[in-house]
Amino acid sequence: MSGTGADMAIRTRNAEYTKKYNRNLLLRLLRKEPLSRAELARRMGLTRAAASLITAELIEEGIIVEMEPVAGMRGRTPTPLRINPEAGYAVGIYLNRDGCSIGITNMTENLVIQDEVKLNDIVPGRKLNFLGSAVSDLIERSGIEQKKILGIGISAPGPLNGEGGEILNPPRFDLWHNTLIGPALSEALGLPVFLENNATCLARYHQGKPEAGGSENFLLLLVDSGVGSGVISKGKILKGAGYYTSEIGHVSIDMHGRKCSCGNIGCLEAYAAMPHILYGTGYRNWEELMNNIGRDEDAVEIMYQEAEYLSAGIVTLTNLISIDTVLLTGDIWYEAGKLSPVIEELVNQRILTRNRQPVRVRSASNNAGIRILAAADVVFDRILAG
Ligand SMILES: [Zn+2]
Repeated sequence: MSGTGADMAIRTRNAEYTKKYNRNLLLRLLRKEPLSRAELARRMGLTRAAASLITAELIEEGIIVEMEPVAGMRGRTPTPLRINPEAGYAVGIYLNRDGCSIGITNMTENLVIQDEVKLNDIVPGRKLNFLGSAVSDLIERSGIEQKKILGIGISAPGPLNGEGGEILNPPRFDLWHNTLIGPALSEALGLPVFLENNATCLARYHQGKPEAGGSENFLLLLVDSGVGSGVISKGKILKGAGYYTSEIGHVSIDMHGRKCSCGNIGCLEAYAAMPHILYGTGYRNWEELMNNIGRDEDAVEIMYQEAEYLSAGIVTLTNLISIDTVLLTGDIWYEAGKLSPVIEELVNQRILTRNRQPVRVRSASNNAGIRILAAADVVFDRILAG
């Protein structure tokens, strides 16, 4: 039997946990949009008094601020609360096969400063030192106080071990193979570092954005030198055992097909990734190919072939977990208005739910700023996790 002292300790701990949980939930809600105390209380399932207690504390700390009251219908004037964008910042690093994009964002998804690093500028033996210096240099140039930087989010191609902060062996990403990037940068810069799959980061970023069309069940498909995927299912990032994410690129589309670098046979990536789909075609990249649609019949043929491959993977995923939207990004984002209807048609001919719930295929937002924001978002997301 536990004594009174132990009971007290447990009660105190539970109360602290609940308080932290509610604070984080409130901040997560306000990061999306300004809300009144009454609306916050309603969404959080708290009494108004309980919600006001939390908001008073956050206002006192300068993390949230009151906006101008809004005149109501019956003379009531609710005061919306919003996040103070300058209350905290995060560094976002988007590592890719050509180098990396680095930036700092505030708490309301605004990029304060950004920079590009070319792969050729990175000395392989000193890559971690190089990245560490690039980040501290950027922080210094931004003029933001060090204590306001909450952490660093790194987005990189998978496979990776997010919890251990280790990049494993993504294809054509040799510079970073088997690198414990998280612990190394965390030690060098004295900040928490969160490593996340790049397609997962981008999927999380697009949740609630116009491109996703309000979907809470969608696939973000990133096709470049590899085929990556991030899945939002029932409003949450789809993750399984060991915190690993879904990898649509390694779903087999041909049991008797090509051997994939991952060890499986006939993986989607072994057909649809750029080096494979373009192999032997004379086209050096997807952009060049898409620019020849309408001029070269072969180009149209290759685009249809790519749509066939990708739709095979999308059909499998849709039948498994019932997604309703696909967002395209990576190299295939270029002129995706031509590719997406072809994929959409093929998918909707073949999925189980074709007569009831068709799948929409759209372009994701795609530029260096968004890739940095998506990486930095991981910091706020993890720090404000429930
Ligand atoms: Zn594979």
